[in-house]
This record gives sequence, C-alpha cells and structure tokens, in this order.
Amino acid sequence: MHQLTLAEIARGLADKKFSSEELTKVLLARIAQLDPQLNSFISLTEDLALTQAKAADARRANGESGALLGTPIAHKDLFCTQGIRTSCGSKMLDNFKAPYDATVVARLAAAGAVTLGKTNMDEFAMGSANESSYYGAVKNPWNLEYVPGGSSGGSAAAVAARLLPAATGTDTGGSIRQPAALTNLTGLKPTYGRVSRWGMIAYASSLDQGGPLARTAEDCAILLQGMAGFDPNDSTSIDEPVPDYSASLNGSLQGLRIGVPKEYFGAGLDPRIADLIHNSVKELEKLGAVVKEISLPNMQHAIPAYYVIAPAEASSNLSRFDGVRFGYRCENPVNLMDLYKRSRGEGFGPEVQRRIMVGAYALSAGYYDAYYLKAQKIRRLIKNDFMAAFNEVDIILGPTTPNPAWKLGAKNSDPVAAYLEDVYTITANLAGLPGLSMPAGFVDGLPVGVQLLAPYFQEGRLLNVAHQYQLHTDWHTRTPQGF
Ligand code: GLN
Repeated sequence: MHQLTLAEIARGLADKKFSSEELTKVLLARIAQLDPQLNSFISLTEDLALTQAKAADARRANGESGALLGTPIAHKDLFCTQGIRTSCGSKMLDNFKAPYDATVVARLAAAGAVTLGKTNMDEFAMGSANESSYYGAVKNPWNLEYVPGGSSGGSAAAVAARLLPAATGTDTGGSIRQPAALTNLTGLKPTYGRVSRWGMIAYASSLDQGGPLARTAEDCAILLQGMAGFDPNDSTSIDEPVPDYSASLNGSLQGLRIGVPKEYFGAGLDPRIADLIHNSVKELEKLGAVVKEISLPNMQHAIPAYYVIAPAEASSNLSRFDGVRFGYRCENPVNLMDLYKRSRGEGFGPEVQRRIMVGAYALSAGYYDAYYLKAQKIRRLIKNDFMAAFNEVDIILGPTTPNPAWKLGAKNSDPVAAYLEDVYTITANLAGLPGLSMPAGFVDGLPVGVQLLAPYFQEGRLLNVAHQYQLHTDWHTRTPQGF
C-alpha cells in the first residue's frame, strides 16, 4: 500500500479498496520501522492521525468525496500545528507548541488530509543539505551517506522512501525544488502569494512560499489544490481564483515554446547533469515542444543578492526569539541583556547565527545602501530578465541543481560552497515566479532534477508539462533500494 501515489490512494479510498484508517496504520508502522535510518521526522502525531483517519472514513461513509479526504501527509516542521510541537528544526523552539494551525494546515485538514507528523528541516529553513537541524541530519534514501537536500529535506526523504505519498515544504531559495531533485521527487514552488504564509514560521518573508512535494506532478496538483488560495490573514496573499490544477493536466505540448537559458550551462554545472537536461529537452521536443535558446544576463548576480536579502529579512524576523516570549530561555540570567544574549546564543545554531550577523550588518546604518538597497535593485533586474524571456517563451527549462547530492558533512566547513548549490533555484524566489523540479535521470546512482519555470500563476502549465513528461518517461517511478 505504501507504493501508492496520492492519485491512486484517492481512487482506492473512493472505490472502498481500503479505509483511511487501514492505510494510516500501514504507513505509521512503516515510519516506525524505517525512519530511524533516515531521521526524516521530528515529531510523529499518531493519535491525531488515527482520529483524522477515522473522521475521514466517517465523512466518506456519509457520502462526502474529495481527493484529499483520508489521504496521509506530513508537514514540514515550520507550519504551526495547534497543540503540537512546531520546532522549525531549532533548539530555540524545541519546547514550542503552536497555539493555532497555519492556514495551510487548517485547509488541508478541512479537506480531510491526515497528518502523520512533522518533518525534519534545516534550522529555520536555512540550508540546502538538512544538516543544520537541531534534531540531526536527514539521510538521503538513495544513499544513506548522502544529504537529501534542504531545507525541506525531511519531507523529501520521507516521500522518496515511500513512508508517505506527499508532504508540504517551503521554498525561500530552492528548499522544495532542490531536495525534490536530490531525492527523485516532483516539487513545486508556487507563485509568491499563491499559498498563505500565515502560521508558516518566517525565514525571509518576501521570498518564502509553501508548496507540495510528491512523486508525480499529478500528486503535486492534488496537494497544491488543498494549499492554494487567498487568505485575509496574510497581507501578501493574492486574491486570484484558484484553477482546477488536476484539470490542467491534459494539455497538448504541441507548439509549447521552451526557453533554455545559455547562462545555465557554464562552468560549475556537472556535465553529466547537462547531458540529462538535454535529454529531457529532446523528450519534450518529441511531444511537440519547440526549443529556443534564451538569455538571463543578470543571473550571475542572483546568489550575492539573495544572500544579502534573505539574511537581512531573517535577522529582522528572528529578532522575536528573545527568550522572553517564545521558546528557549537560558538558565539564571543575571539581567535583561544577559537573558537576550544567552538565550539567543544558546538557542540558535551556527548557521542561523551567521545569517543573523550578515543580515544585521547589511541593514545597519552606512551599509544599507551599499548592500540591501543594491541587492533589491539587482532583484528588479532579475525579474526584468524573466519578463523579457517570457515574451518569447512559455516555460524556461534547465537543471535544478549544478551537482547531485553530496556526502554528509562534505560542505560543512565551507558555507559558500553550499550557497552555490542554489544558483538555479533562487532566481525564481527573487522574481516571485513559480518553479517545479521533476526527476530527469541519475548520475552515479543519485537522482537529478530538471527545473521548469513559468510566468506568474501558471502553476497549471508547469504541472501539465511535467505530467506529460512523466507519461512518457519513468524516472519518477524509480524507488530507492531498501525502501
Ligand atoms: N539554501 C537556501 C538557503 O539556505 C534556500 C533555503 C530555503 O529555500 N529555505 O537560504
């Protein structure tokens, strides 16, 4: 039963082949058996899951239906869950039980989804390897000595290992797409404002966006449907109608204009990944797409701009963790300053502290214009590049990451080496555009992802292209050995 996709589960539940309670028990047992190898969960919510599963079965018995009714999922541990630990992967929030549900959590619960637990993640979503978690590193099910990517690495590893069919993630600079690529999943970062950020603990507010991680585009469509939509509680949520994403999956690719940016294929890209990306282009050409070389001339400035803007916003967002109101408080403070300093010094890990320092510096008087303002101007140039490109093409295609997964610990001594892994993903966050990563092959037994980007609110187009590709390829069906 653990091999079923979300779409297959929905059909199985509708056809009464099994109940949500049966399925939930199977998956909880599987998690108990296999997760010790992976460390993909921070908290399990067995009681809640069984209560929700029984309630979903009862709703179905009363004639209700719905693709998410009775479907097991898990949430990245930065979505607030009422009465349940919401740690953000940090010692700072190890003792924090959220007083309310995030909008995403509440919407999925209302649709009947069953929450199996909260998944491991990089501390405060800062990272691309899931090694900065207070709860320890997550292992990649394709090779337990390798990282699964981050920061939504727990969600990715759990879904890739078939512990559950799908999970939520968040993407500030690639944290849905990059772990999807490194674990052979399909992951979608929606348009900024498409999914509510209310109750999603903030890392960099102008970049953060929640989205689905699953094995197929078809499943991402189902999960996104349950997550997306206007939320008056989030002032950056956009009041646009939500299309039927599953209905968008049957479009022909005849004449679809695919842009491949020449800047994507420079030094730094593993040539074996470049070959796989070219193969995926050929596959889409067979389906009728027309390929064109394009240019994104300001791409080279994206990493420096992101690593000013994201830490700047993080330094502001994380100032609320002061030892007074939420989370960790140091022992026996001698005065208020000591309380602040030691609570933050002991509660935050090294990567979070590094970013708070960089961000506070970039925002300080005298440096604001030189760093933050400059980075914001670069952000606009990057957006303009995309707008110009989308006058000529319907989607942009390239690698999701320059390299496959790396060995645990390999980049720990050099944070900048890890930052460079974000080169293809962060531009979509800077511009607010939707992006998707899907499986495109393997290098040395490790998965490789191809990234698709589309204009604002064209999630349906991304999902359709990925679905057509997945109807004609089988990379996404490959299962890691032992799982
Ligand atoms: N790797 C990037 C960072 O560390 C992106 C993280 C994310 O998307 N949350 O900031």
